Amino acid sequence: SSACTRKTFTIELMSLAVENHPQTRSQLAHLTAQLDTFRQAGTFFRLRELEDIQGPVCTYDGRKVINLASNNYLGLCNHPKLEEAAIQAIKDHGVGSGAVRTIAGTMRIHMELEEKIAAFKNVEACVVFQSGFSANAGTVSSILGKEDFILSDELNHASIIDGARLSKAKIKVFRHKDVAHCEEILQEIANEPGKKLIITDGVFSMDGDIGPVGELAALAEKYGGIMMVDDAHASGVLGRNGRGSVDHFDVHGKVDVQVGTLSKAIGALGGYVCGSRDLIDYLYHRARPFLFSTSHPPSVAATCIAAFDILENEPDRIQRLWDNTAYFKQQLAHSGFNIGGVNTPASETPITPIIIGEGRKTMDFSKALFEAGLMATGIAFPTVQEGKARIRTIMTSEHTRAQIDQSLEILTTTAKTLSIL
Ligand code: PMP
Repeated sequence: SSACTRKTFTIELMSLAVENHPQTRSQLAHLTAQLDTFRQAGTFFRLRELEDIQGPVCTYDGRKVINLASNNYLGLCNHPKLEEAAIQAIKDHGVGSGAVRTIAGTMRIHMELEEKIAAFKNVEACVVFQSGFSANAGTVSSILGKEDFILSDELNHASIIDGARLSKAKIKVFRHKDVAHCEEILQEIANEPGKKLIITDGVFSMDGDIGPVGELAALAEKYGGIMMVDDAHASGVLGRNGRGSVDHFDVHGKVDVQVGTLSKAIGALGGYVCGSRDLIDYLYHRARPFLFSTSHPPSVAATCIAAFDILENEPDRIQRLWDNTAYFKQQLAHSGFNIGGVNTPASETPITPIIIGEGRKTMDFSKALFEAGLMATGIAFPTVQEGKARIRTIMTSEHTRAQIDQSLEILTTTAKTLSIL
């Protein structure tokens, strides 16, 4: 009978699993060895678990802490209007889209979100990806070929680097925010027939400084290059109502490809690319994460639509974000912390690094802060350069002055205990 067959099959599978177990382990011994080197360097970590809701104060691993680690810039992760939109979308459209966009997984709500973002960003068209990572990687890898050049800031995000590698184009890295260096490279390759893509982060994720989007766009114009910006940390943060770095520098129409994320200030998940109708139609045909990975659940699209309404209707959130940022930075510097600007870039945004230098010391500081009631992530090599490990803090609109003052108190007391201050 079929029941009997099923039973035999299950037993066979189980015995297979048992037999394979030791072999699999020995084949992966190099991973264990690598992990041991992380342990020795003091940079091995376990994932902290959030037990309630992402917010200015929340519970990780059973401890209530002030949260300086999330990208929830505007507190939208649990905004009631976003929650309502998600719940309504589940009732109306179910929980899954059932297919990739190009086969059967494009719902009206996906198109509505893209139309909304395109209007918000003042561009012809927009396409949404599953994440900012896939938006960057999928776009860079598909708009260029091996005869082309990518001029990329040395501190650009990993998703740009991966996209560049996948494109097989020739990668030229310019020194951080060094427009003159970028121009030198453009001159060196001026006679090469390939296309030239200049790409920068709008806001750099580890240092919080702003990319020279306007000046690079002018270079692109002068040398006939393509200009692209990754606005993951600028979306909802920079520009009028959080329209991003193109709006911040007022270079509308001069940036060919604008990437943004829906995973940070927008409070949900996803990434998007904005540009001309042809760019977006081309990405429909060639961007591999778009072609080969299922589209967003309708609830996520609905959440994002509601978030863009909040950006337009509650601009005070962005104002509070910047007010909190200014106060926090000023107090940190006043306390004597190295918040960048000497051997590391100077932050200009709600991301403020506290530079420590050594990886182990940074991780110990982060752990001690957590015990004292503050969630502030330690970031070490290879995420940042060796010797430039830091505690990365992120301010949000929802932190109260009392919470910020308490954070400063915990930071200074703990830093003194560990001889950091
Ligand atoms: N670009 C930058 C600069 C980022 O910091 C991030 C997020 N770490 C991304 C892209 C990727 O965005 P997402 O989290 O939506 O995949």
